[in-house]
Amino acid sequence: MKALVYTGVKAMTYRDAPEPNPDMGENLIQVEAVGICGSDMHGYLGHDERRPAPLILGHEAAGTVIEGPLAGKRVTVNPMVPCGTCETCTEGRENLCPERQLISMPPREGAFAELLRMPSDNLVELPDGFPMDKAAMAEPLAVCWHAIKLADRLTIRPLEHSRCLVLGGGAIGLGSALCLQAFGAGEIVVAETNPLRRTYLAAHAPGAVVDAADLETGYDLVVDAVGYRGTREAASALVKPGGAICHIGLGDADAGLDIRRATLQEITFFGTYCYTKADFRETVDAMTSGRLGPLEWTSTRALSEGSEAFADLLAARVEAPKVILHP
Ligand SMILES: [Zn+2]
Ligand SMILES: [Zn+2]
Repeated sequence: MKALVYTGVKAMTYRDAPEPNPDMGENLIQVEAVGICGSDMHGYLGHDERRPAPLILGHEAAGTVIEGPLAGKRVTVNPMVPCGTCETCTEGRENLCPERQLISMPPREGAFAELLRMPSDNLVELPDGFPMDKAAMAEPLAVCWHAIKLADRLTIRPLEHSRCLVLGGGAIGLGSALCLQAFGAGEIVVAETNPLRRTYLAAHAPGAVVDAADLETGYDLVVDAVGYRGTREAASALVKPGGAICHIGLGDADAGLDIRRATLQEITFFGTYCYTKADFRETVDAMTSGRLGPLEWTSTRALSEGSEAFADLLAARVEAPKVILHP
C-alpha cells in the first residue's frame, strides 16, 4: 500500500509500506479521509519522543471497512485503544488508561495510509451519505466535546449564563467554540492572533472573533486551546473571580499560570485530555445531526501531496483550521 511516512525531522515521504495485519477480530479499513493534527506536526518537527521515525503518523481517519466483522460499513475511527480491564477503563474513563495505545504511536501505525487495522469497538458507523471529510473530524471534535462537557460540570455558573472565551482559532479552538454553542453557552468569543485565520474564522465560528491583543477581562470560562506560557498568562488574567480555566492545549509544559490569583479569587483550573468512548459516540451524533454546524472549515489535499501540506502548515500558509488528506 502507499503511505505518507515520517522519515526524519521535517521529512514526510510518500512511499510503499507493508500492509497492516489485522489481529483476530480486527477490521481492515480503506482510509478515505484523514486529518492532520497538531500532534502530527509535533512529531514531524521531531518534538515527540513517542513518535520515532520511520513511522506512519495520522489518527483522524474515516473510511470503509473492507475486511473483518464490520465489512462493508462506512465508519469513523476512534484512534485510542485502551486495555479495557483496568480501574479507569471499567469506570468508562478510557482516556486515562495507563495502557492505552493510540494509532500513530508504536506499536500501532497511523492512518496516513491506504489501509488501517482497528478493533470493532473503535469504529462508529456513519449515516448513509455523511461525507468522509466531515467524518474524519470526529476525533478532534471529540477532544473538544469532552473538554466542554467537563467544563459544564466543573464551572460554578451554568454555561448558559456564562461569558466564554476560547484562546486559539485552530481546529481545537473552533471545535470548542462550536461545542460551547451546542451546550448553550451564553456568550462566546474566539481569540486568534493570525489575521489570515481570523478572517476565515469570521465565517465559521459562533460568536465574535477577535485579535488576542484586544481582549478585555471578565470571562466566566476561558478555554486554552493553545497551551503555551503566554496563553496561560492570558487565561489567568482574563478569567473572572470564581471562574474557570479549561486547559486543552499541549504547547509547552510549565509557567504562565497565576497561582496566587487562582487562590485569592477561587479560580478553578482543569486539564482535559482526549475523550471517552461514550464522548466519541456522542460527538459523532452531534456532528451527524448538525448540532456542530455544517463543518465546512477544512481544506483537502491528496495524501501524495502530504509533504507539501506539512510545509504549508508550518509556514502558516493555510487559512482553514483543518487539512484533510485523501489517500
Ligand atoms: Zn488529533
Ligand atoms: Zn485500561
